[in-house]
Amino acid sequence: METIGRKRKASKEETATKSKRLQSIADKEQEQENKEIEEAKDLKEWKTDGTVLFGDFGAKGSEKIAGFDMDSTLINTKSGAIFAKNSSDWVWWDEKVPKKLAKAHEDGFKIVIFSNQAGIEMGKVDPKTLKGKFIQLHKSLKIPFQAICATSKDANRKPNTGMWKYFVDNCNDGVEPDKSQSFYCGDAAGRPKGKNRKKDFSDGDRKFAINVGVEFYTPEMYFQNKKEKLPPLAFDIKTLKSLEGKSPTGEEEKYVSEKQEMIVLVGSPGAGKSTFWNNYLKDYVRVNNDTLKTKEKCMKVARQALKEGKSCVIDNTNPDPATRARYTSIAEECKVPCRAFYFDIEKNVCMHNNEQRKVNSNRNHLSKKVGNVIIHTFFKKCVVPTTSEGFTEVKTIKFIPGPFENKSDEETYYNS
Ligand SMILES: [Mg+2]
Repeated sequence: METIGRKRKASKEETATKSKRLQSIADKEQEQENKEIEEAKDLKEWKTDGTVLFGDFGAKGSEKIAGFDMDSTLINTKSGAIFAKNSSDWVWWDEKVPKKLAKAHEDGFKIVIFSNQAGIEMGKVDPKTLKGKFIQLHKSLKIPFQAICATSKDANRKPNTGMWKYFVDNCNDGVEPDKSQSFYCGDAAGRPKGKNRKKDFSDGDRKFAINVGVEFYTPEMYFQNKKEKLPPLAFDIKTLKSLEGKSPTGEEEKYVSEKQEMIVLVGSPGAGKSTFWNNYLKDYVRVNNDTLKTKEKCMKVARQALKEGKSCVIDNTNPDPATRARYTSIAEECKVPCRAFYFDIEKNVCMHNNEQRKVNSNRNHLSKKVGNVIIHTFFKKCVVPTTSEGFTEVKTIKFIPGPFENKSDEETYYNS
């Protein structure tokens, strides 16, 4: 008994020493962090405003804005990891970066870092680490700048212009930037794989510059004076603007029938099915899986509508003949004709429209944003409907942007 008691005592002491040691490490880290924050004398404030994180390192309002992306533009991680492991996990993207930034400052540009940091919302980036990194950048650069981060995947995230609007409204001492004298530099330019470079993971930085209306440079162009010919954008929603007001079928016609009927819509999430129902088929009963939750409920509501002598629209993706047969058989049973409206819409457009459900708060969305994988799956699975499935007609619908609910709705739609 005595031996066991002594052993227990010994292990208790060991645990106590261990936890003391850990505590002292944690204390030292905390001390270091406090010191860093203390040392950043020019830091006026950190502000969190909705999904914007704003840090001001003493930069004054200016007409000339030199905007920069941060990751893979100004700095890389020292560790090679995608997300920085701590505030010190960074190296300059190129040794010329600090000199070039100092020169821009000297030339009267205000330096503003616009950085997508949705990792904060996802819990992959600690805001303290991020702030600590900006503090270190400031210590190293010794010039004033501002940092604006988008912490979620919403209207503030590049290529949307929320961060720029926030900056103009709140961070530039009331000075309206002169876009013709300003620029934005970032690595996400939609470039294919290069000599010593991976394929750009997106074209978000380049689109951000286009949406804001300023000149765009890649880090190679700006910091290394390299000439680069950028490829055309893979997808640009602005090219669809000319379609506004046109007919979705290319014909002048009405979509409702004089007689009672069922219409089965076929199309990806984001193809505009619910908007089409809202624009043209509002008098029809809408059968929608998102609101009704199960296919059984959808079938029940469809059957009930037809039995009550009403027309109905099946507003689901309905990608294949088997799914559609559930509904054509109900129409047949009720002796009501059934048409299919096939939404022949490019995947990129569907992706864009799906994204709008999160980033565009200027309109009432009929549907919630879905994961991109659901859109990819639809396109893989989709079989174009034919009359052999029992439809009296298959109509092909093309995508037409709008009508928009207001000016901001339209602006946001084309600037995403
Ligand atoms: Mg980047």
